[in-house]
Order: sequence, then C-alpha cells, then structure tokens
Amino acid sequence: MKAEIIAVGTEILLGQITNTNATFLSEELAGMGFEVYHHSVVGDNRERLMQLLQTAESRSDLVVLCGGLGPTTDDLTKDVTAEFVGEDLVQDAAGLANLEAFFAKALRPMTPNNLRQVLVFEHGEALPNETGLAVGIFYQKPQQTAYLLLPGPPSELKPMFLHHAKPLLARQLPQHEHLLSRVLRFYGIGESKLVTELAELIDNQSNPTIAPYAKPNEVTVRLTVKTNDEAAGERLLAETEAQIMNKVGAYFYGYGEENSLEKVVVALLKEKHKTVTAAESLTCGLFQATLGNVPGVSEVFAGGFVTYGADTKERFLGISPELVAKYGTVSRECAEAMALAACEKAGADFGVSFTGVAGPEELEGQSAGTVWLALAQAGEVESRLYHFTRDRAYVRHSAVMAGLDLLRRALLSEG
Ligand code: ATP
Ligand code: MG
Repeated sequence: MKAEIIAVGTEILLGQITNTNATFLSEELAGMGFEVYHHSVVGDNRERLMQLLQTAESRSDLVVLCGGLGPTTDDLTKDVTAEFVGEDLVQDAAGLANLEAFFAKALRPMTPNNLRQVLVFEHGEALPNETGLAVGIFYQKPQQTAYLLLPGPPSELKPMFLHHAKPLLARQLPQHEHLLSRVLRFYGIGESKLVTELAELIDNQSNPTIAPYAKPNEVTVRLTVKTNDEAAGERLLAETEAQIMNKVGAYFYGYGEENSLEKVVVALLKEKHKTVTAAESLTCGLFQATLGNVPGVSEVFAGGFVTYGADTKERFLGISPELVAKYGTVSRECAEAMALAACEKAGADFGVSFTGVAGPEELEGQSAGTVWLALAQAGEVESRLYHFTRDRAYVRHSAVMAGLDLLRRALLSEG
C-alpha cells in the first residue's frame, strides 16, 4: 500500500522548525511495510490544504497528516479534512473528560476554543492523546483512502502513533510484508573502496537491498529485507551479511545504527578486564573525551594526559628535551616514549599516544595531517605513522578513530 505524509504548519515552511515528524513517521511506516512515496509540507491555509488532499487521495492508500489539531483558528487540519471527506465533527467523550480533568487540575478556567481539540469525525475512530489534549483521528470509507490525523508536537505524536495508531493500522490496513534491517559498521575502508569491493553484490541486490553510507571516518552498510516471515527474513540478512564479510570483513567492527567505535572498545576493555590511558598532543584530550561518551567507562579508564607542548611532555610524562631535540615531537620516538610513560604513570594496561600536525600550518617541517600513534602494553610499544587529509577537525577526529581501532585490534588479539 502507498502512504504519504503531509505536515501542516506555516512555521515549517518558514524554516522555523524542522519536519522531524516526517522522519519518524516515514521510518515507522516503511518498517510496517507501507511504500512511503511522498512527503509534503503545507502552510495553515484552507485552499492549499484542500488541493493537497485532492492530490494525495488520487495517489495514496493512506494519508497521514500531522499538526494543526490545536485549539486556535489557524489549527485547521480537522476542519478541512472533515469537509474534504464529507464528515461532520462531533465531540469525543473520552477526549472531553481528559480535557476537563486537565483544566480542573490546573485550576484554570477552560476557554471555549479548547473544545475544538476534542472534535472527531462522526464515523472515524478517536485516538487518545496521552501527553496532550488534542485527540487524533483515523478515518476510512470502505475500499477508499484512509486518513490519519496526528498532533504536531512530537511529544504527543510519537506516543499516539506508537500506542494507538500503529496497532490500529496493523488491524485495519495489514501489510503483507514488512521490513527487517541490519546495520554493519566498518572502519579503515573508504566508501568508494567498499562499494568497489561489493560492486557485484550491490549490482545484483534486490532482497535484501544493500545501502552503504559514508560517515566521518567510517562507513555503514544497511541491509534491508522485505518479508512476511521473520525467520526467513533473518536468514536472508545473514546470507547477505556473510557474502559482505567475505569481501570486507577485515574492516568490520560492529552492528547497529547507534553503535560506535568507542562503544565497541569500551565493551572489549570490560570483557577482557583491561584498563586504558592516553597521552595526547595534537588531539588535546579528544581521545579521552570520546571514551567519555560511553556510559560506564570509569570501569576501564581512570584518567590520562594532555601534553600539547614540549614542556608538559617533559613535566607530566618525563619526555627528555634531548629526545625532543634529536627527533622532534612529531616522531616515532616521541610517540613511543609518550605511550610508555602514560601507561606506567597511570598504572593502566594500555597506553595510547597521539603526536602530530593538526594543521593547517606545518610543524617541525612536517606537513599537516602527519600523525604518529603509539600503543604501549606491559612495557612493549608499537607505533604507526599516518597521513590524514582535510581540515584540522578532520585530522584530529581521524587520529582518534585510528587510536580506537589500534586498541580494538590489540584487545581482539588478547586471549
Ligand atoms: P498544538 O496543540 O500545540 O497547537 P498542533 O497539533 O496544532 O498542536 P501545530 O500547532 O501545528 O500542532 O504545532 C505545534 C508544535 O509542534 C510546533 O510549534 C512544533 O514545535 C511542533 N511541530 C509541529 N509540526 C511538526 C513537525 N512536522 N515536525 C516536528 N515538530 C513539529
Ligand atoms: Mg497548533
């Protein structure tokens, strides 16, 4: 079935608010198996909404409207849609009770325009509003386009959709198939290389579909399958995943839209009962702050060092001026000495160090993006040289991601 979403509100057209309701509703409807083919925004204007309803009815089986259910006269979604489908508006008893209870509790007199919020179509179904006052509506004439009217505030729209509209749609407009998806995350491979490696799979994709997305310093691949059988869908996802892993599995680090390299690293540290510290020059604490994004990190991270200049490298970490004079701060020797010293002073299992040129200016005759990373563990140290590109922020982010991945790989090779 084809669905479309109409957001009503002049403030969206003026750019004052973002149409996040459409994002939420689209993801939900697509997940339920609807084909969402159109998003529209229309101002609080009777004629233009009427016109849009005409277009929507001609092309969609389900039209979801959001916004404009409030008490004021510019809230005209109910009036216009009722007129369009030829319905009378009547008071919803449960909605009225909710409204009266609200004003009684607030010890405020209710102005008559509030009653507009509890009007529903005579032959429609009222959807309760758990977090507000405006009642939602579902309406369908047999074999014709169905309409769903939801309030504008996301705090009202989301619970109304999830708790009331979604089960109702599943009953009234059951979809033969729905979507299942799985997100794979990769570090250390660019989007173009990944797409090249997966070219054959991507060219022949149909079910599941394979959608790569480039993010800063990582790539995700979303596999989506359309199915009427959960187990068969999961099997299809697993088969495609195995084919992808066969090609680019070396770069895979985790599953899920909400996952991240730092979450995976912290989970591994916990699993292996290891702790980490860091000594940061060009990243200036960004690596440690990134670890700090993860709740519960205190179990594996007690603190570390920010040593931006040569003097703090000496005072905090004991890096000798002779070493700096001989090799420079952007050097294998300095990175390794920083990692070893951090590890020892913090009493951690792993010490990661970062020294390099964030840019845009060059430093010690080395170009922007030149970065040394070292990883120390039990008195041993390994180091690597990177040449990152783009601007200062990207170089620092790239360094942090490389440090996380170095640590992740070391943890994976632990027994
Ligand atoms: P109210 O009873 O608050 O007037 P309403 O159903 O009449 O609710 P609107 O007046 O259209 O809805 O919008 C109220 C508020 O809800 C907006 O100011 C905005 O903060 C939010 N909102 C409206 N539409 C959207 C949308 N499409 N996406 C995200 N937020 C929205
Ligand atoms: Mg309003």
